[in-house]
Amino acid sequence: MIGVQVFAVTENVWCIRRPSYLTCSYLVRTPRGVVLVDAGMDSSGADIYRGLDAMCARPDEVRSILLTHWHNDHAAGARAVQDKLDVPAYCHTNDVPQLTRQTARKGMSGKISELIPEWGVLVLFKGLLGEATPRAILNPQIVSDGGLIDEYFEVIETPGHTPGHLSFYYKPERVLFAGDALAVVHNDVHFMARAVTPDVNRARDSMRRCLTFEIDTLCPGHRSPITDSVRLKCDRMIKHIDGGGHWPLLG
Ligand SMILES: [Zn+2]
Repeated sequence: MIGVQVFAVTENVWCIRRPSYLTCSYLVRTPRGVVLVDAGMDSSGADIYRGLDAMCARPDEVRSILLTHWHNDHAAGARAVQDKLDVPAYCHTNDVPQLTRQTARKGMSGKISELIPEWGVLVLFKGLLGEATPRAILNPQIVSDGGLIDEYFEVIETPGHTPGHLSFYYKPERVLFAGDALAVVHNDVHFMARAVTPDVNRARDSMRRCLTFEIDTLCPGHRSPITDSVRLKCDRMIKHIDGGGHWPLLG
C-alpha cells in the first residue's frame, strides 16, 4: 500500500485510488451494510481498510464485494478481504476462470508476472502476463444482466474490455459503477484505450447501454468520478456513439 488516496465522492460513496496506476475501488454505505465495488491491486487488502477507516465504517459492516472484471488492478485485493471478512464476491461467469486462477500461466510469463511488484504502472501487466488474478477469489457468486445484488445494485453486463465485464447501478442514489466499460478523462466521458479493448463492437454497445441509466454520479474504474452535469456528458457520448463516432487509439 503506497500512497493510497481516499476521498468521499458523495456522502455514502467513497473512492480508494492508487496514485501509481489510478485504479479506483469504491465503498458504498447502503441501508444493509457496506458494499465494496472492486478491490484494487493490494493483495493484502490494506487499502480497503484505510477506506473503511476514512468513512468511519467497521470491517464487519462489509457485506459483499462486487467485481467489475478479473484484471488484477480491480480484483487482486478481493481474496485478502474475503480471508478476513468472509464475504461473497459477485462476478460474471465469463471472468470466473481468471478470478479462480484456472487460467493461470505456469511458464515463464507466469514467473515474470509473479516478480512484478504491486506498485507502479507495470502492475497492469502483472495480471495480464499471468492471465489470472494473483490470488483466487473464494466461492464466486455468479450474476447476470438485470440481477439485483443486496437489493439495491442492478447488474449490467458490459462485455468488451473483458468477456465477463460488469457494471453496477446503485439505484437509491443513482450511481453508476462503470468499471472499465468507459473512461473518464478531464472530467468527461471517453472510450477506454483501444489497446485494452479486445472487442470494440461489444464495448461500444456496452458503453451506450450503461450510459442510458439515470445517473447522478458516474464512478469509473480509473482516474476520477464525475459528479457535475453527468446527464449532459452521458448524452453527449451517446450521441457520439450513435453518430458512428470513431474510437481513437488512446480512447
Ligand atoms: Zn481492466
